[in-house]
Amino acid sequence: MQQALVPKKNCLFVISGPSGSGKNTVYDGVKALLPSVTHTVSATTRAMRPGETDGVDYYYMSVADFQRGIERGEFLEYVQYGGNYYGTLKSEITRLSSENRIPVLIIEVNGALRIKRIYPDATTIFIVPPSAKELERRIRKRGLNTEEELRTRMAIAQAEVEMREKYDHCVVNDDLEQCIKEVYSIIKEGAYQND
Ligand code: 5GP
Repeated sequence: MQQALVPKKNCLFVISGPSGSGKNTVYDGVKALLPSVTHTVSATTRAMRPGETDGVDYYYMSVADFQRGIERGEFLEYVQYGGNYYGTLKSEITRLSSENRIPVLIIEVNGALRIKRIYPDATTIFIVPPSAKELERRIRKRGLNTEEELRTRMAIAQAEVEMREKYDHCVVNDDLEQCIKEVYSIIKEGAYQND
């Protein structure tokens, strides 16, 4: 009988990319190929968007609760981004590791670099949008942002793209299927390779 593959102990992957880079779609594609891959559910103080579910997309918290969490040391990392708090709860990593899952954090650059400092063995992957123009088109297409939010997101995106060389891998999301394949290979190799 074939033995179920168990991911390497303490393996951890981080995926970043500006909003509109398609990082969540890439993650979904990788998950379909490698079901053990599971993203950590972050906590946030931002408002829930239509179609989102508490405990699935995020744990939605008040600012007071989030700050209490910070004081209690419940976050592995947290940032303020676009006027809201976002953070990875330590309990999420423990939960996924104990279930033999491959934890994937889909987070912005400052949090990602912090994770790399805490876990030097973590593999960091940056999803690069094909161009600033295409990025703006994708953000607009979502129709979620006001003109002011769009400008803020574009400015953050530009700053984030400049940080890409600090990542272990950069994958351009020009062709979605190709991008998914590349990220899948990086994660599969990192999670199951022999020491
Ligand atoms: P959105 O509001 O579009 O869901 O997310 C905004 C940004 O926050 C995205 O780049 C997303 O990856 C990032 N983000 C989500 N959760 C976390 C987290 O726990 N920590 C950090 N550092 N960034 C996060």
